[in-house]
Amino acid sequence: MNHLLEINDLRVEFSTDAGTVRAVDGVSYSVDRGETLAIVGESGCGKSVSALSIMGLLPKPAARIRSGEILFNGVDLLGLDNGAMRHIRGKEIAMVFQEPMTSLNPLLTIGLQLTEALQLHMNMNLGQAWTRAQELLERVEISEAQRRLKQYPHHLSGGMRQRVMLALALSCEPKVIIADEPTTALDVTIQAQILELMKDLTHEMGMALVMITHNLGIVARYADTVNIMYAGKIVEGGAAKDIYASPRHPYTQGLMRSVPRLDLPREAKLVPIEGQPPDLSQLPPGCSFQPRCPYAVDLCSQEAPLLLETSLKHTAACWLVDEIEAVV
Ligand code: SF4
Repeated sequence: MNHLLEINDLRVEFSTDAGTVRAVDGVSYSVDRGETLAIVGESGCGKSVSALSIMGLLPKPAARIRSGEILFNGVDLLGLDNGAMRHIRGKEIAMVFQEPMTSLNPLLTIGLQLTEALQLHMNMNLGQAWTRAQELLERVEISEAQRRLKQYPHHLSGGMRQRVMLALALSCEPKVIIADEPTTALDVTIQAQILELMKDLTHEMGMALVMITHNLGIVARYADTVNIMYAGKIVEGGAAKDIYASPRHPYTQGLMRSVPRLDLPREAKLVPIEGQPPDLSQLPPGCSFQPRCPYAVDLCSQEAPLLLETSLKHTAACWLVDEIEAVV
């Protein structure tokens, strides 16, 4: 059976002054209707690059896709020309970015931005598009929708702008929404509201949601499946409940120890992961996490471990996966 969106062995490189950077290095994952997949990792681990590859938005000519497949409904998006990709973007796969002020046009009213997309992709006339735009704002729980449609982005709060971005993403009823750090710029209570809303609406509308984040803590409640990325690779993946109950990779365990958790006593200390994320142009040999890993043995600096199943649908890439206790 075809998955709605399936990435197979994707490899993306960037040419930089420091040399070739392998930003995404053999990544595979899939997502289906009604499912929420979280891709988690520190800045520069390749999670956003894999999303931009899906959308055909990689910066050219610096970035190039070395190999792999991005199958959407069984069709490889990497084989499509610009015209066909324009049809997919927004209409079939939509993206919500971190900072709405850089994605919304500051010179156009919210109404114009929403109706433009509806007229273009949904063949609506202006009257129909205006009615639908109002409905969409109500759907994302923006009050006084009529009045908001006539306002400009700078009239709205950060949380409201992110709701408008969500309304824009939902407007053409895409099959997949990719949300890249959608709530990082917002305060904690608004973050929770937006994530809850995003999860509920995509689920209700039968869409797949790919949530990209650096914060393992916030996805615990919203994701069905989780992929943990480090240095361009997936190092652990599986059902969210399994990853939270028994994280197998030392990096995932480190991430979990470094975020506040409601299931631990209040006095429990947060433990940061030692060291810095690696420079992707100068990765160490073997396992990329080895310089920061408290368990590293000689083999770790000689050969990179493969991503293998440790239990049903739970994978991890670590030589010592059977020896390290799956606790945080
Ligand atoms: Fe640590 Fe070695 Fe496992 Fe890498 S392979 S995570 S260095 S124990």
